[in-house]
Amino acid sequence: MFAALDSATAQTQDSKQSKAINQVSLADVAAGKATIVDLTHVLNEKNAYWPGTGYEPFHLKTIATIEKDGVLSKAFSMPEHLGTHIDAPNHFETNQPDLSMISPDQFFAPGVVLDIAPQAEVNADATLTLKDIQEWESKHGRIPDGAIVLLHTGWGRFWDNYSRYKNQDAMGKLHFPSYSGEAAAFLIHERKAKGLGIDNLSIDSGISKDFAVHHVVNKAGRYGLENVAQLEKLPARGFFLIVAPIRIEAGSGGPTRILAILPK
Ligand SMILES: [Zn+2]
Repeated sequence: MFAALDSATAQTQDSKQSKAINQVSLADVAAGKATIVDLTHVLNEKNAYWPGTGYEPFHLKTIATIEKDGVLSKAFSMPEHLGTHIDAPNHFETNQPDLSMISPDQFFAPGVVLDIAPQAEVNADATLTLKDIQEWESKHGRIPDGAIVLLHTGWGRFWDNYSRYKNQDAMGKLHFPSYSGEAAAFLIHERKAKGLGIDNLSIDSGISKDFAVHHVVNKAGRYGLENVAQLEKLPARGFFLIVAPIRIEAGSGGPTRILAILPK
């Protein structure tokens, strides 16, 4: 089934890997004959969330125990935009589908990983440029139409340190790398990306004021994926993604399990 979706025609050193993912079937995945990388951070009270008014940490409380009630049961509360989560198309644009309305076929796609970790290492405000995409494509082949694009910034290594992760300066401004508006527009319109994901708090850089990337993505009815884990474990291409968000009526986002499938 991946063959039909990953029609990538990489003519470079990655072509072997792209071919291999075409040969991985769901039966292979079920039989343990594929590698699955879980791109989801474990939800707990230390999870990063957007540091805005009204947001609060994840909270889990026990409502019944086996000792007292014969059964273990808990209740949790959290903002929609906390931990590894999806930004639904209605997050930044009106008249766009809410979380419950996204068509399930949007949750399956070949994945690619672009990388600005070297730039981010020296500049926390670095953004992915059109030139970066051109360089990636000359090395790895054209980004397949309808892929889910992930951006590795290296920020995942700060996940356990919320203060370092959001990197707020004395003026309260956040500093972390992301997509530029032009790069996002190219990926959404010229490469028909189903969604754009990132390994930090936002698909717009920390210092962004206009949230150009969110608008480009949401205006096209597409979604964002934020705080995506373990991007350093993925190749540049040659894997398949399954995105499984919670289904909240009228939701603008929510916790999401994201799995990458690679040939073993
Ligand atoms: Zn979000």
